Amino acid sequence: MYCFFQKYGYTHLSAGELLRDERKNPDSQYGELIEKYIKDGKIVPVEITISLLKREMDQIMGANAQKNKFLIDGFPRNEDNLQGWNKTMDGKADVSFVLFFDCDNEICIERCLERGKSSGRSDDNRESLEKRIQTYLQSTKPVIDLYEEMGKVKKIDASKSVDEVSIPILP
Ligand code: AMP
Repeated sequence: MYCFFQKYGYTHLSAGELLRDERKNPDSQYGELIEKYIKDGKIVPVEITISLLKREMDQIMGANAQKNKFLIDGFPRNEDNLQGWNKTMDGKADVSFVLFFDCDNEICIERCLERGKSSGRSDDNRESLEKRIQTYLQSTKPVIDLYEEMGKVKKIDASKSVDEVSIPILP
């Protein structure tokens, strides 16, 4: 996915990856809190996630002003994320579209369990994954529905194999 979106000029930023990196930083005051949320499949408080995203975006654009298109993976994940984004980014960023990878729950779990054989991630286990699906249904799906009403959702059938999945044309 990383290479594909780069072709369109997007920098791929993963909210989860930024949080995992922050958790590893021994100087971070949020490390323990982030670990607890991730293991429980819960959404980390928005102030932390937004500050990491903004820091990364500012750094990339500071180095090259033309690198101003971002694909933010795993965000916004709930109403709190959405409000935090709107508050912090109002007038600074446009959301052109939301890419929704539509996939059956059990296929997602099987893929993550397979990934768990080598990922070392504390949430690649059935218990955390089932909690994550509950979090998705309760908190993330309503945000996707909101973007759907605005006509901003591009849906991808992600249950197929890597070779069969087709990505819509992007702006
Ligand atoms: P991911 O890397 O997208 O699979 O996310 C792994 C975990 O990181 C999630 O289950 C959450 O605990 C946390 N996380 C990822 N994205 C966010 C976000 N936007 N807001 C808060 N927590 C997040």
